[in-house]
Amino acid sequence: MFKRLRRLRINENLRALVQETNLSPSDFIYPLFVKEGEGIKTEVASMPGVFQMSLDEILKECEYIQSIGLKSIILFAVPDVKDSVGSECLCDESIISRTIKAIKEKFPTMFVVTDLCFCEYTDHGHCGILDPKTETVDNDKTLEISALQAIVHAKAGADMIAPSGMMDGIIETLRETLDENGFENLPIMAYSTKFASAYY
Ligand SMILES: [Zn+2]
Repeated sequence: MFKRLRRLRINENLRALVQETNLSPSDFIYPLFVKEGEGIKTEVASMPGVFQMSLDEILKECEYIQSIGLKSIILFAVPDVKDSVGSECLCDESIISRTIKAIKEKFPTMFVVTDLCFCEYTDHGHCGILDPKTETVDNDKTLEISALQAIVHAKAGADMIAPSGMMDGIIETLRETLDENGFENLPIMAYSTKFASAYY
């Protein structure tokens, strides 16, 4: 006896119905790394083809990626100023805030996901506030400032927040904060989504 799998391959419409995975440009989220300055497009040595760009270059890149059918980006910021608690990302004039606003103004339909963490903004490079006694990250103090950072992103117009700092209770904290501040429709992206992708 032969299996008659040809039945399911015989017609183009049927093949489309039974195919397992269909990737299209709208399935992808394009990472963008913004830094202060103008006319800057610096390749990241460890990631060929990935660039740190100033805002003007980010806007040019958005125009290009929209022209090839990509609809979503994830924003990472590379600030000039760092301190022990990552103050830069906690104000409305932060580089990520200005970038979100500029992108949404020029490309209103672009879906802007934001990376939420502190390691890029702290002078010690850890993902939150350090406990001076143990010299490890103070989980609960970091939750407090993570909530503040989420509000900065939300107010600037982010469409989804992707927390990469793995604090215990981060999702509950962000969800409650967003809901209490009128952003109950703003989704949070689990980082497991990123890790599940073979493109990450
Ligand atoms: Zn981090």
